[in-house]
Amino acid sequence: MLEPDLAIIGGGPAGISLALALASTRLNILLLESGGLNFDPQNQKMYAGTESGLGYIALDAGRLRFLGGSTNHWGGWCRPLDAIDFEARDWVPHSGWPFPKKALEAYYPRAQALVEAGPWLYDKADANVAALGALLPLGDGGVYTSWFQFSKTRDSELPTYFGHRYQDELKRASRVTPLLNANVTAIRLSPDARRVERLDAATLDSQGGADKTFTVKPRITVLACGGMENARLLLASNDVMAKGIGNQNDLVGRFFADNPIPRDVATLVSFAGPLAPYYGNNLALANGPVLRATLSPTHAFRRTRQVAGSLTTVEQPVEMDDTGKAAVITTAIALGVDASNAKAYSLGCGMELLPDPERRLRLTGEKDALGLPRLQLTMRMAETDFALYHDTLRELGRQLLASRTGMLRITRRENWSGNMDWGNHHLGTTRMHDDPKQGVVNADSQVHGVGNLYVAGSSVFPTYGASNPTLNLIALTLRLADHLKKVAA
Ligand SMILES: Cc1cc2nc3c(=O)[nH]c(=O)nc-3n(C[C@H](O)[C@H](O)[C@H](O)COP(=O)(O)OP(=O)(O)OC[C@H]3O[C@@H](n4cnc5c(N)ncnc54)[C@H](O)[C@@H]3O)c2cc1C
Repeated sequence: MLEPDLAIIGGGPAGISLALALASTRLNILLLESGGLNFDPQNQKMYAGTESGLGYIALDAGRLRFLGGSTNHWGGWCRPLDAIDFEARDWVPHSGWPFPKKALEAYYPRAQALVEAGPWLYDKADANVAALGALLPLGDGGVYTSWFQFSKTRDSELPTYFGHRYQDELKRASRVTPLLNANVTAIRLSPDARRVERLDAATLDSQGGADKTFTVKPRITVLACGGMENARLLLASNDVMAKGIGNQNDLVGRFFADNPIPRDVATLVSFAGPLAPYYGNNLALANGPVLRATLSPTHAFRRTRQVAGSLTTVEQPVEMDDTGKAAVITTAIALGVDASNAKAYSLGCGMELLPDPERRLRLTGEKDALGLPRLQLTMRMAETDFALYHDTLRELGRQLLASRTGMLRITRRENWSGNMDWGNHHLGTTRMHDDPKQGVVNADSQVHGVGNLYVAGSSVFPTYGASNPTLNLIALTLRLADHLKKVAA
């Protein structure tokens, strides 16, 4: 029996950031991590599940179950959410966070330091790249050049793997006990369902079967198992609340989302020749940060044309077919510009999905080695999601023509979904809302109705944006740390 002040379930970037943020407080912290320091196929099997609907990544392939979580194979792409991503918008059903982006601003610098992405540039990066080539001249319009930064600088080859990077810091923190190979198998509530009384935990033996069990009795629990597993543990912990913890309004597991990445959505032609290198490549600046340009709809365009977020990137130079070449020549003649050096590029995009309660995770009858029911994902995507992005691409095409610098050939929309990746961004399954009928956690990330249970990670995002989630979920977790400092002191 372990009796910490705070139990953090899950040692991914959310759990590790929270433990480090609270390490210098008076709280005794137990960080329970299912895996060890490295990949273990037996442990990973506990993530397996089934899927129906639109093809999606296998549930045990799109995440990793050991210290550091999915950052052990993440790409390190970072970008803060946009202010409009937090707003309730009448053309985006179920949209809106319970607070504006301003509430996260104070936490982004520390989040940026944890992901080791160098100085904060993002949409202030234009001046830093001026010497390397001009921005695509898009004039006044709905699409502008925005920026990703990467969780790595010019001196490091790989993004920050949170487990490897922070394991020593966790060990050094005298009030933090990282417990590896410790799987939480149930969250046990008091009979009135108002508090977590204890956690059941278990280890696997070397053959991947159940081994030892133990109990944790924390004052406060934070669930930080990732965007799918947070829902799974809440749904499976159903001895007191029959539909699962926090699921009195049938919301846990619903509203699952990811950022689809359709490839080759269009061909962009630059009449004057090659684009600046930062459009199609990662660019390491002399002072460290690594950047890449992306084409994003402005807030004003998103509002007036009622489109979702999207981040269009230049993928690679392409050779145009004869019809494409003819289109370039005739367009250049019509515009009165020289296109003899024209260069063409394929475009891809990280899209935002609209919230959909039927895109969801459910428990199945099948169980893992420790008796936890496995997940089934029902994946789907609406034609509207593609249609909204199509509007943004059309605007980009309009701007290129208006500025007489290039043109866009949009690939037939029916072909997008046949050539589509996913971001592996698991969002929305324990959504945040002040109203318990519309959200699983409140604005403090506390599970509605359960006083000492909180959720960290992108499962709480009620609306998703197109930005990659990790920088943002860390900022949100640091905000939770501040809240816990107040309530747990
Ligand atoms: C291939 C790939 C590329 C990606 N690229 C990017 C990118 O470029 N940019 C970006 O922002 N994001 C990216 N992501 C997403 C990013 O990795 C996640 O957003 C992030 O890791 C989520 O952090 P988390 O701490 O909430 O969850 P996780 O990273 O999933 O960590 C959860 C932790 O909880 C542990 N755990 C699970 N169940 C239990 C249990 N029952 N008991 C105890 N411990 C448990 C797991 O072992 C794991 O360590 C990528 C993901 C993948 C898979």
